Amino acid sequence: MTTELSPDELTGLLDRARGDYQDLVGRGLSLDLTRGKPAPEQLDLSEELLSLPGGRYTAEDGTDVRNYGGLRGLPELREIFAGLLQVPAAQLLAAGNSSLELMHDCLVHALLSVLPGAESRWVEQERIAFLCPVPGYDRHFALCERFGIDMIPVPMTAEGPDMDTVERLVAEDPAVKGIWCVPKYSNPDGVCYGDDTVARLAAMRTAAPDFRVFWDNAYAVHHLTDEPVEIAGLLDACAEAGNPDRAFVFGSTSKITAAGAGVAFFGASPANVQWLLANNTKRSIGPDKVNQLRHVLFLRDADGVRAHMERQRALLRPKFEAVARILDAELGGTGLATWTSPKGGYFVTLQVPDGCAKEVVRRAAEAGIVLTPAGATHPYGDDPRDAVIRIAPSYPGLAELEQAIEGLAVCVRLVGYEQRAR
Ligand code: PLP
Repeated sequence: MTTELSPDELTGLLDRARGDYQDLVGRGLSLDLTRGKPAPEQLDLSEELLSLPGGRYTAEDGTDVRNYGGLRGLPELREIFAGLLQVPAAQLLAAGNSSLELMHDCLVHALLSVLPGAESRWVEQERIAFLCPVPGYDRHFALCERFGIDMIPVPMTAEGPDMDTVERLVAEDPAVKGIWCVPKYSNPDGVCYGDDTVARLAAMRTAAPDFRVFWDNAYAVHHLTDEPVEIAGLLDACAEAGNPDRAFVFGSTSKITAAGAGVAFFGASPANVQWLLANNTKRSIGPDKVNQLRHVLFLRDADGVRAHMERQRALLRPKFEAVARILDAELGGTGLATWTSPKGGYFVTLQVPDGCAKEVVRRAAEAGIVLTPAGATHPYGDDPRDAVIRIAPSYPGLAELEQAIEGLAVCVRLVGYEQRAR
């Protein structure tokens, strides 16, 4: 990332960055780029959802959705999402409003009740560890911390986690029970897993007989370009490789319809589905089927989901284009940063010189621009190179976003040139 500069050139660039930073602070901004939340106008796209089911309370099979029961979720909703999540409807559950809750529950149940293929409950084992491709999603890491699960970082490549490392770690250590994967438009670097990665995850030899891939397909239909990326289905690949119970597939409509009032899904082998249902019968007498029915009536079918995501894309794409345009104009050719150009999902990853990310985030905060804390993309909040910054462009309005990214670029120049001048 270095570009050779003469001492005079560096002094000039640093002076300019300092001046720009003073101006930035003087503007008294108050902007927030922290979380990947849908913007209000994205939520407005689903306004009709909130007036549904509009007096109709029966599902296709005659179930009164207002009543208890139906732990698997409405069959017609599971049909809509089966293809999109690459899980047969019979093996897909429609649950509550959050896939993160399902991931939480799967960890708790694996700790407290014996998983298919397991020799004992995880809680009885001295140590449990998960592989964490980095950069990754902070809430996955928070779940591991919450339950005392050790986290082992694995570097990401353009095709997914570095599979040589993954294969070695899972083969040699029976304490390694799982891996977190966001296989499409991953949070935060937008990576889509290659077919070879999926095949190797499905087929690799694991020392733990109860190893699980937590396949968090949160951005399965969240395309930003005209060329939607398709990835190989993990569940099928696991079944073909003779490891049918290895995959836990998660997804939700949080960033399709409403982030607080959507529907979450779990897909897995018949044995895993039975295991989760057996645990869930103790936890719940059934999901919110009224919400599930209104999603059926609103989305109609898989093509309805795709058409809806086109409308989401029309709102999101200009924001991602603005981020790319401004970073290119302000930081292109400086040697101070590289950034991702995701084909979907919710994030842009900005990579700054080693040792600079925390300071960039601190200076941005001082100028009124709040970013996700540096390090959040790594287990224990520790990015050993201190180089990764996650940008979440979805929530602010376009004008605010542009201001925030321009300000961020000023901070990168300031901190980057300061470091070079030391
Ligand atoms: N998984 C990933 C990768 C996410 O980025 C997010 C939200 O940002 C979630 C899960 C949360 O999903 P849900 O709203 O279904 O709990």
